[in-house]
Amino acid sequence: MPIEIPPKLTERLARARRVTVLTGAGISAESGIPTFRDALSGLWANYDLQELATSEGFARNPKLVWEWYAERRLRVAGVQPNPGHRALAQLEKRYEAFTLVTQNIDSLHQRAGSRAVIELHGNIARVKCSREHTVVSEFARDDSPPCCASCGAYLRPDVVWFGELLPPEALARAEAAAQECDVFLSIGTSAQVYPAADLPLRARAAGATVVEINPEKTALTHHAHFALRAPAGVVLPQLLAALGEG
Ligand code: NAD
Repeated sequence: MPIEIPPKLTERLARARRVTVLTGAGISAESGIPTFRDALSGLWANYDLQELATSEGFARNPKLVWEWYAERRLRVAGVQPNPGHRALAQLEKRYEAFTLVTQNIDSLHQRAGSRAVIELHGNIARVKCSREHTVVSEFARDDSPPCCASCGAYLRPDVVWFGELLPPEALARAEAAAQECDVFLSIGTSAQVYPAADLPLRARAAGATVVEINPEKTALTHHAHFALRAPAGVVLPQLLAALGEG
C-alpha cells in the first residue's frame, strides 16, 4: 500500500541531526498485541481497567490481576517485531542522536534492534515487590501471585498502572530528548495519556518538526506539522526508503 511521503518531510528528516520518537500501543498492533481497549474482550470482557490496571484493583483481587498480566506476558513472548519496529531500529543508525521513548511494555523495540529505548511505562517481562518496589527475578512461578522472598508482600508486574507516577529518571531523559530534537515522531499513540502526551508539544514549542503516524486522528493531529494516516508498519519502511535507506 504505497502512501505519499511529503517531500518536505523527507528533506527535513534528511537534514535532521537529532530525532526523538514516541511510540504507543498502535505500533505493536501489527505484531498482534491488542491495545488495552481491544484486550478487554473474550474472557476479560466483564472487567474494566480499574480492576486490572490499578494498585487498588490489585489490592482487591491480586489473583485476577496477576492472571491477566500472565496471559498478556505469554502473548507478548509469542509475537515478533513488525516492519514498523524494524524500520525504527534502522533509522536509529542514521542519526547522531536518536531517542526512542515508548509507552509500550512489550520489549518489541529492543527485540527489533533498537538500542536507545526509554521505557516510560515499565516492562511486562519484569516483576517487582508491591511493597518495596525492588525488581525480583527468582520467584515461585506456580503461585498466583507469588510473594516477595524478602518481605512477604505480593509480587506484581513492573508496569506503571493508572494513577501511578512514571519513573522520574526515564521521564526526565524523555523530556530532554523532546526538547533537544530537530524532528519528533509520534507513532501509534492516542496522545491522551499524560505526561507522555506532552512530549510532542514540548518538542514543537522548542522548534522541532512534529510528525504523527497513526491511521486515526488524535488529540495531537492539529498540532503536528505532518500527519501520515496509515499503519506504522506501512509508513515507516516507506519513510526509510524515501531517505534512501530502504
Ligand atoms: P494508545 O492510547 O497509545 O492508543 C493506540 C493508538 O494507536 C490509537 O490512536 C490507534 O489509532 C493507533 N493505532 C492502531 N493501530 C495502529 C497502527 N498499525 N499504526 C499506527 N497507529 C496505530 O494505546 P492504549 O491501547 O490506549 O494503551 C494505553 C497504554 O497501555 C499504553 O501507553 C501502554 O502503557 C499500555 N499498553 C501497552 C501495550 C504494549 O506494550 N504493546 C499494549 C496495550 C497497552
